[in-house]
Amino acid sequence: MNYSEIMVRYGELSTKGKNRKDFIRQLGQNVRQSLQEFENLEIKAQHDRLHVTLNGEPDDAVIKRLSGVFGIENVSPSVKVEKDVAVIKQTAAAMMQEQFVPGMTFKINTRRQDHDFEYDTNQLNDMVGGYVLEKVPGIKVQMKKPDVILRVEVRLNGVFLSSEIIEGAGGLPVGTGGRAVMMLSGGIDSPVASYLAMKRGVKLDMVHFFSPPYTSYQALAKAKELTGKVANFGGDIQFIQVPFRKIQEEIKEKVPEGYLMTIQRRMMLRITAAIAEARHTKGIFTGESLGQVASQTLESMMAINDVTTMPVLRPLVSMDKDEIIKIAEKIDTYDLSILPFEDCCTIFTPPAPKTRPDLEKSRNFEKLIDVDALVKEAVDGIEIVNIKPNETFLNKQEDVFAELL
Ligand code: ATP
Ligand code: MG
Repeated sequence: MNYSEIMVRYGELSTKGKNRKDFIRQLGQNVRQSLQEFENLEIKAQHDRLHVTLNGEPDDAVIKRLSGVFGIENVSPSVKVEKDVAVIKQTAAAMMQEQFVPGMTFKINTRRQDHDFEYDTNQLNDMVGGYVLEKVPGIKVQMKKPDVILRVEVRLNGVFLSSEIIEGAGGLPVGTGGRAVMMLSGGIDSPVASYLAMKRGVKLDMVHFFSPPYTSYQALAKAKELTGKVANFGGDIQFIQVPFRKIQEEIKEKVPEGYLMTIQRRMMLRITAAIAEARHTKGIFTGESLGQVASQTLESMMAINDVTTMPVLRPLVSMDKDEIIKIAEKIDTYDLSILPFEDCCTIFTPPAPKTRPDLEKSRNFEKLIDVDALVKEAVDGIEIVNIKPNETFLNKQEDVFAELL
């Protein structure tokens, strides 16, 4: 079929009374941004739908992009024809013929915006349905749950036929839920948590701790490249890299081994909260999941969370690893996440970190380091880069890749 437009149906936002205008404006903006590279498209956001006129651009590529934009319930590619019953009938029959498999059932569902059109919806259903029955041998009409519903919309500017509904990403348009910072490592979990935060409309800035020379340039590049993948779902992302080496060395030197991990995490969270506040964002997201590792028990979370009153949100909190991996595969971050570049935390993780750290002890051990000065130095040392959807950073020539291939 030679499609002329993609019709986009809004998700949940159609139920949000007073915020509706903002939602539609934001969704329109996000759709425009994600379709930037297709120069001939015309995008028009209306109160109940958005129409993307293809003007010759490839429908499959445009649909693929749209399917990653939050706030879209589903999309339907449609063919626009003149308001001429003969043409409508022929197009309908051609569409059904293309999709026909033996035993297929269908019905016609007509909507009429143009009430001056010479036939009403019942007449059109009958005429078009009858013609399809005649031209596509073996096809049957079924009113209840047919295999295919052929939608015919008589609008003022033409008649639109569509028969496919392709599921969208759901959720809310990114940007309608405010701004937060995401603690992004190079692992499997935090990119998935980022995706889920964005799904609820939150615009993210990434905070990433790195620790050269203990962690390599490639580990940093991996976190940036993961950010590029995540940016596919909500546009450009600010990536904030925080130098963490000095803090880790201080902690390692002064804090008892059982509390190394807890104190490191307290410092990370404290610095992230300082960055979040300075940027006027309203929360912190992490990729933690309850019970997954030592730092992710309730006791640990309490001991770590103690350093800030800012909301710390954990979209993966009750997910199993295999559920998380499924999403990682779907959003195309999994293969990157499992590349073996060392993370700053693994290097300084003691063989037996406390799984139930004590809050008072955590507070006391922390007094062994100069918290304020270290936080200030780290915050002063941040570097910020803007990362575009699908931007790449890893040096694919390096030995580790050669070995992996
Ligand atoms: P992930 O797969 O996201 O690395 P994980 O299961 O390996 O998670 P941890 O390494 O304990 O768990 O990290 C828990 C969370 O702490 C991460 O999901 C992330 O939000 C944050 N975090 C860990 N390391 C870093 C880092 N280097 N920079 C920023 N945030 C980090
Ligand atoms: Mg990790």
